[in-house]
Amino acid sequence: MNKAYDVLIIGGGVNGCSIAYQMSKRGYRAAVLEKTRVGAEASSAAAGMLGAQVEIKENGPFFDFARKSRDMFSELVPELEETSGIPVSYVRNGMLKVAQADTEVNHLLDMLAFQKKAGERAEWRDPNEISVQEPNIKGDIKGALYIPGDGQVKAKELTQAYARGANLLGADIYEFTPVTGLLEENGRINGVTTPSGCFYAEHVVLAGGASTDLIPTAQTYIPSMIPVKGECISVKPAKPIMKATIHASDLYLVPKPGGTIIIGATEQNGRMDKPVSAGAVQELLSKAIRLVPDLQNAEWIEAWSGVRPQTIDGMPYLGAVSIKGLWMAAGHYRNGILLSALTGEWMADLIEGTAENEEWIRAFDPLRLKEGKEDLVETNH
Ligand SMILES: Cc1cc2nc3c(=O)[nH]c(=O)nc-3n(C[C@H](O)[C@H](O)[C@H](O)COP(=O)(O)OP(=O)(O)OC[C@H]3O[C@@H](n4cnc5c(N)ncnc54)[C@H](O)[C@@H]3O)c2cc1C
Repeated sequence: MNKAYDVLIIGGGVNGCSIAYQMSKRGYRAAVLEKTRVGAEASSAAAGMLGAQVEIKENGPFFDFARKSRDMFSELVPELEETSGIPVSYVRNGMLKVAQADTEVNHLLDMLAFQKKAGERAEWRDPNEISVQEPNIKGDIKGALYIPGDGQVKAKELTQAYARGANLLGADIYEFTPVTGLLEENGRINGVTTPSGCFYAEHVVLAGGASTDLIPTAQTYIPSMIPVKGECISVKPAKPIMKATIHASDLYLVPKPGGTIIIGATEQNGRMDKPVSAGAVQELLSKAIRLVPDLQNAEWIEAWSGVRPQTIDGMPYLGAVSIKGLWMAAGHYRNGILLSALTGEWMADLIEGTAENEEWIRAFDPLRLKEGKEDLVETNH
């Protein structure tokens, strides 16, 4: 079986499927080639926070990209839900980023200052105000940054919605179709090999998350990924015990529509294995119960893990690589759900040749890091 498309996207995670959705909306023939099932990896492990302000610590192109992506969800979600028929449980319930030590207060005040300067809504809460806003938070809290504009979705459903939406707009989604190599002709990539045959396209996008550099033969052209394993748990209190998402320096509690609370997440650099350790469950539960003691009465639901795709400088790789026809959209680390909305549009703009924001082109250029560039130059000779 040989098939031809305008664009082939390798990886059916939230970002690959968002790119397929946007390319299909613009009338391109797109296909997603997924090793197992759509959303099988990090995109179904995510807590679903759209935490542009809670996650990004300084002003700059990454903050601009993240908040633009977050703001897209209010229009994108109704469109996506209508196109796909899949509800994604989008709520803008705000986030409370708490300081549990004096040193964290200064850090959060710096975040407050830069975010206000950038025109975003952010408010300071002293301990008394916190106990009025979220009475179930206990312990020695020094203050908190309240961010009304950050929200959340259900990550697995969002990924499925992008995929189904793309499919209904004309994209083909091939599950259980691992890409085994890139095809090169006359100095450009023009397709891929899989066990079910070759696929050809003018553009091939590498969107394999933490495994992007493990796609056979891709490593010649792209920087390496840094896998960061994360474990999460969820519980369900008998009645709601928090309104906003609560963020601490090493913990978050995300109240989902339906009543469960996701508690996350561990961070283990360099790990790609799947099992959830008993120690991780104990650590997450005890930190969460220290912050919100009522959680000890909640019903246990489940535990899971996923692998975040990290990059050397913490920003995603979005753009062309060192050979014509090949693109990369990976390295979204802790924020791939948040960044998925704009990743789809931005990659479509780049591929179409209509991308105008020079600052983003430079900031997210997959070849921006000197070390990466030297490696690529060497391997390409
Ligand atoms: C515990 C945890 C909590 C998180 N919470 C949040 C959160 O609250 N908010 C947020 O924004 N982000 C969060 N993240 C991060 C987010 O999940 C990731 O950044 C995002 O899912 C990455 O999406 P992706 O599409 O790039 O990669 P993935 O979801 O990993 O998808 C890549 C796909 O490529 C496929 N693939 C790989 N190799 C091949 C091949 N050779 N051939 C074909 N297919 C291939 C894989 O099977 C996979 O399905 C969290 C991550 C974890 C682990």
